[in-house]
Amino acid sequence: MMQDACRNRYELHENELIDRFNRRLNYLRVSITDRCNLRCNYCTPAGFFPKLPHKEILSYEEILRLVRLLVCAGVSKVRITGGEPLVRKGVYEFLSELHRIEALSDISLTTNGVLLKENIRRIKSAGINRINVSLDSLNREKYGKIAGADRFDEVWEGIQLSLLMGFDPVKINMVAIKGVNDDELIDFARLSLIYPFHVRFIEYMPIGTQCMSMERQMLAPEIKQKIEEIGSLHPISRGANDGPAERFRFDGAPGEIGFIRPISRHFCPDCNRLRLTASGQLRLCLLSNLQFDLKTPIRTGASDSELLNMIFSAADRKPLEHELVCREKSTVLDPMYAIGG
Ligand code: SAM
Repeated sequence: MMQDACRNRYELHENELIDRFNRRLNYLRVSITDRCNLRCNYCTPAGFFPKLPHKEILSYEEILRLVRLLVCAGVSKVRITGGEPLVRKGVYEFLSELHRIEALSDISLTTNGVLLKENIRRIKSAGINRINVSLDSLNREKYGKIAGADRFDEVWEGIQLSLLMGFDPVKINMVAIKGVNDDELIDFARLSLIYPFHVRFIEYMPIGTQCMSMERQMLAPEIKQKIEEIGSLHPISRGANDGPAERFRFDGAPGEIGFIRPISRHFCPDCNRLRLTASGQLRLCLLSNLQFDLKTPIRTGASDSELLNMIFSAADRKPLEHELVCREKSTVLDPMYAIGG
């Protein structure tokens, strides 16, 4: 019984997911689909887009069962991602169910924004208040080249509407790539001077078998130096529930700037993340091939206690740090859309 499996957690503090390096794993990222309505050229290998057959994807009931168990084990923060989460049928009902899990203090959604505008009310009614939208260019034509589809207007309108609808924060994620969008760094930074957006610059990670040349990568110090041409950035102190972003603000700006630096500064020592892929694999580190199958046990009658035991022993194998360094070939075989960024 779930109740029995959970009881320990409330009685025994040590039954929270704390790994052997004393990291409390309380943040779960769930990829609900490997499908996407965009083909961002740094994320999806050219001309190649495998789709898992539907039966290989965890059902919403299966995902909710695993999330509830993980909540029993101390997870309090969940982010829904993909592929593109908004392309999966039934996603809004699923988000509502997720919202009903009382012990979850923070539920957020990462989307490419293509379907945001038309579904924003459904997202809000499902109880989601925090949203990340990926946007790699503010130039319509260039956006189309990067994303493989001319959807800039929908995305931008969706972002604007998110603000109007009171989502807080509205984060804009930009992966900076030399020769592609590095000429727009200042334009993105300026957004934080006009709107209360949290603009996040993300370092490109060489993931998947067809990853981009590392020469195109831009690291946070270089990005920061560039955008400080328009003003000094002041650090913002970190909150308890903060992610790995290093956060700053320009003087008087309503918005903020963040840097996600998986390459130039590993946040591994503080990493509190677990990932559940659409195919039901528990991954302890985005940048490691290590994964633990939860789909087979869940479909062959494993009890809640058995699943929890598997989760605990998997968590114990979370690597101390990732080994992704600037090499010719990526050490991580699965592309981002399959793992869930
Ligand atoms: N479709 C949703 C979206 O676009 O936000 C969610 C999935 S997408 C894989 C999540 C994030 O991963 C996006 O912000 C995307 O830019 C980022 N991403 C994909 N491949 C990446 C890579 N190799 N390095 C860094 N970020 C990457």
